[in-house]
Amino acid sequence: MSRKEPLRAVKGMRDILPPDSRLWGHIEQVARDVFHAYAYNEIRTPLVEVTELFARGVGEETDIVTKEMYTWEDRDQQSLTLRPEATASVIRAYIEHQLYNPPGLKKFYYMGPMFRRERPQKGRYRQFFQIGTEAIGSESPALDAEVIEMVVALLSRLHLSGFTLLVNSVGCMECRPVYLAVLREELAKVRERLCADCQRRSETNPLRVFDCKVPADQPAIAQLPTISGSLCAACREHFDRLQRYLQDRRIAFTIEPRLVRGFDYYTRTTFEVVHGALGAQNALLGGGRYDGLTEALGGPRAPGIGFSLGEDRFVLAVQETMANRDSAAEGGLLYIAWLGEEAYRHSAELARELRSRNVAVELAADAGKLKKSLELAARLQARYVLIVGDQELAEGKYPLRDMASGEQRTVSKEELLERFAGARSKVAAER
Ligand code: AMP
Repeated sequence: MSRKEPLRAVKGMRDILPPDSRLWGHIEQVARDVFHAYAYNEIRTPLVEVTELFARGVGEETDIVTKEMYTWEDRDQQSLTLRPEATASVIRAYIEHQLYNPPGLKKFYYMGPMFRRERPQKGRYRQFFQIGTEAIGSESPALDAEVIEMVVALLSRLHLSGFTLLVNSVGCMECRPVYLAVLREELAKVRERLCADCQRRSETNPLRVFDCKVPADQPAIAQLPTISGSLCAACREHFDRLQRYLQDRRIAFTIEPRLVRGFDYYTRTTFEVVHGALGAQNALLGGGRYDGLTEALGGPRAPGIGFSLGEDRFVLAVQETMANRDSAAEGGLLYIAWLGEEAYRHSAELARELRSRNVAVELAADAGKLKKSLELAARLQARYVLIVGDQELAEGKYPLRDMASGEQRTVSKEELLERFAGARSKVAAER
C-alpha cells in the first residue's frame, strides 16, 4: 500500500505544543488570578455569531469587517461569522441576558481563539488567542485608570519588562464629527498621494486612514491633524483626569495622538502596549472605551471599557526576553525510574499517592537502565528523579536526584511525601 500524503494544519492556524503549552497555561492562570483580584468574572460566549453583530459592532468600514472575517451562509441561509474579536459578543450577551439589571458596574473577562483572515507572519495568525476584559456601566476615568493599572499588574506579574504604554483620547459623538470634518478637508488635499483603501476611507470613514500600514502613505498621514486639538471640554477633562490618575499610580505612559485603533466603537480613552521584542507586529495588547456600543447593538446606554491581549504575541515576547520562560515551563516534575517488576508495582503505588496530592509525577512505562532513565527525565525537564530498585525496596529508602544541581540524597517514603506533597499543600493553602 502506498503511503498517504500527511495532512497539515490550515494556513495561519497552528498547534501549540509542549513545552510552550505550559507557558500558555501559566499566563492564563496568572491572568485569572489578576482578574479575580480586580473583581472580574469569566464570561464564555460562542465562537460563532450572526455576521451583523460585527458589521454593527466593529464597524462596516473597518479592515476586520471588509476583508478579514470568516463568513459563510449557513444551511438556513443565515449569514454567520467566526468571531474576529470578543467585545461585540460580550455586549451582545450583556444585552440579551439583561445584565444591566440590576444597575451597576458589570465586569467580565474572557480568553479564547479569535479568527481574522490576515496575511500570516511572525506574531500574526489567522487563528490567534486573546485574553481580555470588559467593564460595563460607568463612564468615569477612574475605571479607565483601574483597567490600565490591572493591565500593568498583569504584565509585571508575568515578569515582562521593556514595554511602552501608549494612551490617547479619540473624543466622543459630540466632538468627533467636528474633527472628522477637518480631517476630511485635509485628506482631500493629499488624496492622490494615498493608497486606494485610504482614498475610499477618506470619504466613508476618515478615522480609519490612521490604521493604514502602507509605507508610502505614512508621510502624508503624519501631516494630518490629530483629534487632540478638537476634543470638547468634557472629553478633555476626562482625558486629563485619566492622566492624573495614572500619575498617582506611578504608571509611565506616552501620549500617542494618532492611536485610534481599528474599531469604530471606541470613544474617549484608547490605549495600547507595544513591545520592542516583537518586530513589526509590536502591539501586545490594546483597549479602549466604548460608550456608545451597547446602544449601537440595540441595548440601553451602558458606557464601558475593555482591553484585549494577544496571547500568541505575549508568549513570543516572554520567550524573546527569556524573562520567566524557565520558571514557567519547569513545573517541578518528579520522574520515577524503577528496575524490576516488584519495584514497578511499588513505584506505581507511590506515584498514585503523590499524584492524588497534586504532585506532578512521571512514572517510567518501561524498565530501563539508570543512565537511560536519567536521559529521559532530562528530556522531560524533570526537576527530580527518584530511583526505585530491589535494594531500595528492602531498605525503604530511595535515592532522589536533583536534576538542576546534580545532587543526590536518600529519602524515606515519609520524607518524600513531606517534601513534595507537604510543600504543595502548604502553597495551596496560602493561595
Ligand atoms: P485588537 O483586537 O485588534 O485590538 O487586537 C488586540 C491584540 O490582539 C493585539 O494587540 C495583538 O496582540 C493581538 N492580535 C490581533 N490580531 C492578531 C493576529 N492576527 N495574530 C496574532 N495576534 C493578534
